Amino acid sequence: MNGCLSLSRLPVGTFECATRLDTRDGRPVFGPDTPESIPGNAQYVFLLHLPRGEARSLDIVWPHRETAARPGFDYPHNTNFSEVLDQVIFLQPHGEDWERLTSVRRRPHGVEVDLPALDQPAWLSVGIPYFACQYETLLRDLEADPAWGVLRIGGSAQGRPLHGCLRPARTDDSRGLFLLTAYQHYGEWTGLHAIDALMRNLPPEADAFSWAVVPCMNPDGLYQGWRGDLMHRGDALHEAHGGNINRAWNPPCLPESIAAAEFFRGAAQEERALHALDFHMGWSSPNHSGGGLTVYHKGEIDPAMDAHLRQFTEAFFTGVPIQDFAWEHSRLNGPGATPWFTRELGCPAQTVEFSRFQAHLPGGPPQPVSTQYYRNLGPQIAKALCTAYAAGIKTY
Ligand SMILES: [Zn+2]
Repeated sequence: MNGCLSLSRLPVGTFECATRLDTRDGRPVFGPDTPESIPGNAQYVFLLHLPRGEARSLDIVWPHRETAARPGFDYPHNTNFSEVLDQVIFLQPHGEDWERLTSVRRRPHGVEVDLPALDQPAWLSVGIPYFACQYETLLRDLEADPAWGVLRIGGSAQGRPLHGCLRPARTDDSRGLFLLTAYQHYGEWTGLHAIDALMRNLPPEADAFSWAVVPCMNPDGLYQGWRGDLMHRGDALHEAHGGNINRAWNPPCLPESIAAAEFFRGAAQEERALHALDFHMGWSSPNHSGGGLTVYHKGEIDPAMDAHLRQFTEAFFTGVPIQDFAWEHSRLNGPGATPWFTRELGCPAQTVEFSRFQAHLPGGPPQPVSTQYYRNLGPQIAKALCTAYAAGIKTY
């Protein structure tokens, strides 16, 4: 956070995603301002701008509708987000880090929230958002950093620039290339926090590798939320994949996936692609953090690569505090970015699912998430990649 929230004027790409629904027992009731088509177990965005004022209280209700389970695909126990809502209400009182509100009580389909007195306007949010102004600051800072090259690689469906960032190895002999993407899905803020901190804080051992990163795959979603997300446009062009960017990689067929695929192909022509990671946020369940790392179904990829991937996954969980859940999920001919990396570039590739509400600190019980926890994940992930490949984790 860098104070990008000017209080008199909201920066570009910062907007409410909440609407006032009702009043109950004198308390205003708010809900996400999303269309009916977005069910309550598939969306996680609520952002309310609060004027300064005395202590007050409000209720938040969550959409009741849920998508039916699809066999073989669905996230384990993906319940309505109201099930974990009491754990993920945050306040940003002074344009600084988000603070989790503990004065939150569950009620059917939502929560009651007591707010402290505010001497300045503030944001109330479900989860910890990453604002578009932070992304703009990241790009500016990387452009000023001689280690990074920032390239405009194409445009989004609405014509916003899509950026690819390259950091060539800083040693004479590169050990190979890591490929990273984040934020294909508009509500999945954690990946942006993590990738931002990763790019700013690569550990010294990262110098022996090259890094190709598309930090924000969905700028329309970042700047406009569901309003800019292809999934909610419903036009015929996007019917085959529902406008879901992460189902538009076989073959790449949306402006975002076409541009990113071209960028990564180009980077991998120069040197060997070692490993690809695609950052997402998992599901919601009181019984599972929704965090984890995908692996391929047995038999989908070459057995030697599969063994390597599973070995990498185990090592990853020792250094990156997300739930140690290796989710056997990926299919080589699937529509997502992960199998595209393996098909096209011949490297192991995984989807990282970050929890929306639980931090798994080593040696202790799960904790509530914080901005710092999310940001720490970036460098921890970079370290896990470097350690695995520097140590010559058995290659396939
Ligand atoms: Zn996702």
